[in-house]
Amino acid sequence: MDKIKMTTPLVEMDGDEMTRILWKMIKEELLLPYVDLNTEYYDLGLACRNETDDQVTVDAANATKKYGVAVKCATITPNHARMKEYDLKKMYKSPNGTIRAILDGTVFRAPIVVKGIEPCVRNWKKPITIARHAYGDIYKNTEFYVEKPGKVELVYTSENGEEKRSLVQEFKSPGVAMGMHNMEASIESFARSCFNYALDTNQDVWFGAKDTISKTYDGKFKEIFQKIFTEEFKAKFDAAGLTYFYSLIDDVVARVMKAEGGFIWACKNYDGDVMSDMVSSAFGSLAMMTSVLVSPDGYYEYEAAHGTVQRHYYRHLEGKETSTNSVATIFAWTGALRKRGELDGNKALTEFADKLEKATLSTIEAGKMTKDLAMITTIKHPKVLSSRDFILAVRESLDRIMK
Ligand code: NAD
Repeated sequence: MDKIKMTTPLVEMDGDEMTRILWKMIKEELLLPYVDLNTEYYDLGLACRNETDDQVTVDAANATKKYGVAVKCATITPNHARMKEYDLKKMYKSPNGTIRAILDGTVFRAPIVVKGIEPCVRNWKKPITIARHAYGDIYKNTEFYVEKPGKVELVYTSENGEEKRSLVQEFKSPGVAMGMHNMEASIESFARSCFNYALDTNQDVWFGAKDTISKTYDGKFKEIFQKIFTEEFKAKFDAAGLTYFYSLIDDVVARVMKAEGGFIWACKNYDGDVMSDMVSSAFGSLAMMTSVLVSPDGYYEYEAAHGTVQRHYYRHLEGKETSTNSVATIFAWTGALRKRGELDGNKALTEFADKLEKATLSTIEAGKMTKDLAMITTIKHPKVLSSRDFILAVRESLDRIMK
């Protein structure tokens, strides 16, 4: 069998710990036998980030701008314990944060839906994709504790000294106060990313905020979404038979619980933080969530939503068998290969991505899965496989499909 050729390189970002082990197995067993893999490789493993003073992360992000599509393995975000463990020169920032700062854009997280792993919300039949605005609000706030009576005000001073002032609270007793902000440009690019991704994946967009209470702040989000939609996307949505729907956040939450799924739920920063964990746990498992960063300029970076599965890695280092779920990492690869195929008009590559996904899902549906899924599946007597044996089972199934 001839291997599938790739015309444009895919940016490959390797990572850390257990997911780095899975990364290698996935390439060796599921990709290299079928695809003449053309990647530009960046090692985002912590050791290499430390050697290059994190330049490798910046280079990888810039390569994504050059080629348009990247696939990323989970990486360690250093903390004090990691500083010691890896003898780091400094506490590097989260690679995802660095990449997002360079590419800009929105992260879309969607569960991988498979028979046998049933969402606890029974009417959820299709994935719910959460789009989280990744700038501002309480994540860039300033806050303090008010110890004694006094007033807290919000003060704006323009460059030429004009002032705007508004009372937050006249404190009679101790309390807390906070100031936060967002930027029109960031909200606009968030809206564009959501509408573009909706057209890309043929899904409706739902958006909710609290504009009845926060008339100016949340009101601005609502207004910008509506403006961008009407001016830039309405005609395309009509042509594709898609809709954009805004409502109060509480109404959206209530509707989501009753819905079938199959739409993009655009969330403000905090809502997205909270709701993406709710959606992933309700759909079954963090190990079955994919994540893609879509920039307003049309760059795509695919990854699994979970981390490096540190606990399993230490078991692996002790020479013990692990049963780590590789599904979301496999789907990061298929997402990236499919997108690369679409952009290059490479049908063989997009079809391969579809087949690998099918092989993965049919393996689980046949009752072969890793331990995390075996604990929650509705399939009777599942066969629990090790990390490697699961990938080999997918390989068997893929071999059959490829023939
Ligand atoms: P984690 O996602 O690696 O693991 C959290 C828990 O979820 C684990 O205890 C494990 O039981 C379960 N789990 C997650 N993925 C699994 C899988 N594929 N198979 C089976 N079980 C799975 O998060 P963590 O333990 O909080 O963090 C570990 C490291 O990952 C940290 O250093 C953190 O900085 C990093 N991290 C990276 C990313 C990223 O690169 N996108 C995201 C989150 C965390």
